[in-house]
Amino acid sequence: MVTDMPVRGAPGMRGRLGELCYSSGLLTPLQRVRAWWQRDLRILAYHRVMPLPDPATYAFDMELISTPPEEFREQMRWIARHFRPMRLTDIVEALDAGEVLPPDTVAVTFDDGYDDNYHVAAPILDEVGVPATFFVSTGHLDSGRPYGYDWLVHMILVTAAPRLELPELGIDIALPPDRDSRRRIAGNVLLRMKWLDALAQTAMTERLEHEWNLPSVDARPAACRPMTWDQAREMSGAGFEFGSHGVHHRMLARLPQDVMEREIRESKTTLDRELGTPSILMSYPVGGDRAYSDAVIAATRNAGFRLACSYVCGTNPEPGVNRYALNRLPVEANMGPGWFAAMLALPRLMSYPTTRHEAHPPQAQPCSR
Ligand SMILES: [Zn+2]
Repeated sequence: MVTDMPVRGAPGMRGRLGELCYSSGLLTPLQRVRAWWQRDLRILAYHRVMPLPDPATYAFDMELISTPPEEFREQMRWIARHFRPMRLTDIVEALDAGEVLPPDTVAVTFDDGYDDNYHVAAPILDEVGVPATFFVSTGHLDSGRPYGYDWLVHMILVTAAPRLELPELGIDIALPPDRDSRRRIAGNVLLRMKWLDALAQTAMTERLEHEWNLPSVDARPAACRPMTWDQAREMSGAGFEFGSHGVHHRMLARLPQDVMEREIRESKTTLDRELGTPSILMSYPVGGDRAYSDAVIAATRNAGFRLACSYVCGTNPEPGVNRYALNRLPVEANMGPGWFAAMLALPRLMSYPTTRHEAHPPQAQPCSR
């Protein structure tokens, strides 16, 4: 079910300040002044583009919805009018040639490979004339299976089990009937499980699925469907770029070295074969500072990738220096048009504050009761 009333978190101080700068007409002059002394590459990071569903009935992770379609269209129009949208492949060429990127260069990227990227985002990008890169987890396009973290949230939202018991995370909690409370619990689980190694994360999800006797991940509900290779080929043929987001969407730095290298190599082999062009772009799954490492960067470079994005929030004043760990600006559904525009004009001040990962694991106790 889809409501007309988007349910969003409060925009907070950044959002209000952004809207104020936007409505006062200050943003464009501020952006021009900034461009005199700061030429940084801005890369926007999206996941899903879809109408905001009613959280009381929607059975998947709301946090993956970056923006609804109409706002996405306005965002793309904004960057087409005020910035210089550029393909990541052209950025690679410019970096290889030692060229300085033009001021106000913006790249648009998507992680995971949900099928709304094909049905919703691509037609809007096409209409507005903005290029974009889609980073897909190749194993999910192969199998059609939902992405692991989204599926875990789904299970916690729908299970009839009275308790959530995750000894791996020190969690043993009664499951309340309402979805809001369950969403908070699921969010906490996602935060904590990213401190486990990646194979333990998969094992935990599979154990819950088995214990709770839920419809198998093979049920493949439409609401969390990856795009197909046919859709990806059609988008690629229309000029959109594709890159790797691993095979199984695992945190690469939390895998044994040989498995990590295989994830990177195999994702490239599959992309090259399915799309018929050499894949040179990578985005590390999860992408925070614990999801990649020097070893992951080395394996990415050795596999033939020539640029890689993290999910660390920020811009890139010298993209030639961190071309294998480029910062991005995540777009979140509670950003109004003013906040979005302000984030692009003044990214250091206005970017979304959620993507820096905490330096220590979350305490084990507060989630138990
Ligand atoms: Zn991802």
